[in-house]
Amino acid sequence: MRIVLISTPIGFLGSGKGGGVELTLNSLVSGLLSLGHSVEVIAPRNSKLHKGNEKAKLHFAEGEDQISWQHQNYNSPVIIPDNSLLAGMVEKGLDIANQADVLLNMSYDWLPIWMTLNLEIPIAHIISMGSESLVISNLISKVYSRHPNNFAFHSKTQANDYPFIKEPIIIGNGFKLNNYIFQDSMNGPLGWVGRVAPEKGLEDAAYVANKLGEKLRVWGFIEDEIYASKVEKSFPKGTIDWMGFLATDDLQKELGKCRVLLNTPKWNEAYGNVIVEALACGVPVIAYKRGGPNEIIQHGQTGYLADPDDKKDLLSYVKIIEKIKRKNCREWVENNASTDIFANKVVKWLNKVISEYK
Ligand code: UDP
Repeated sequence: MRIVLISTPIGFLGSGKGGGVELTLNSLVSGLLSLGHSVEVIAPRNSKLHKGNEKAKLHFAEGEDQISWQHQNYNSPVIIPDNSLLAGMVEKGLDIANQADVLLNMSYDWLPIWMTLNLEIPIAHIISMGSESLVISNLISKVYSRHPNNFAFHSKTQANDYPFIKEPIIIGNGFKLNNYIFQDSMNGPLGWVGRVAPEKGLEDAAYVANKLGEKLRVWGFIEDEIYASKVEKSFPKGTIDWMGFLATDDLQKELGKCRVLLNTPKWNEAYGNVIVEALACGVPVIAYKRGGPNEIIQHGQTGYLADPDDKKDLLSYVKIIEKIKRKNCREWVENNASTDIFANKVVKWLNKVISEYK
């Protein structure tokens, strides 16, 4: 299959601004290449693909980023800036579409989804978020009624945010296991990984660290400086140990030393890449019982699921984290979320999409 991937219009690949989509895209490229497919990627200028993905041709587009939907009002209209990066990426996609079997869109935005109604070549969409915008949800609903196969979701709970999707195609996610080293240290620090933004609930993890009189190691791109400093100031100085945004290899080395990862999203997290990355290193995860984390974590086996927004429940599970066998965590990823498993699901889905256009 010849597949053209359209990346996120928020930040270049490697910047961290695109969140989990950056890693998901790289995992998918790697899985598709290893299955023998031809892959081209359209991404913002300065983007880099991970080592091993050199066989994928990278096309650059330039322009103004989109505003992330989770930071706008649910009822906001679509804003497309002058010199739009998103439009630039879509145009590039159309330029090379005649050499492809399918365009695979990974941006959560209006334009590429709307294009589905106006293209002869199939355009399939990996929806990377829950319902964060009325205008996008309504558009998905409209396109879905004509092309029900063209949308895939990372988790069932995420897909439930779009009630008109009757039989959602769930593709999970994939991780290149060789990139994550298993570490068996049970006495490490508390860890937290993610974009530092209100929907990620960093304050709840800091609460737990403070109650235990420990530091919380925080890795990730600070998307919202005001929020970050507000959280920092709410706890005694030094509670949060800011570790910065690291590339996957450096991140996994540090993350693997932790005795637990706290994952505290306040929104319907579509999946939660950082959970699986921690598990791949052997680090158990405690998260709130909602969204993707609820489908990934095996309660009592690979971590614990706390009552949503109940910080005390979170804390109580940290106190018994040594009951989790770190080997179980790694094993879950091997059996459920490798790049091969992920790419096979995506290929099966894309074949279904393509067959409808013949
Ligand atoms: N990440 C990273 N370096 C860091 C912290 C985070 O590369 O120092 C990446 C991480 O690998 C993950 C992404 O940031 O792929 C966060 O994705 P997630 O699905 O957890 O949340 P999202 O940001 O998409 O809401």
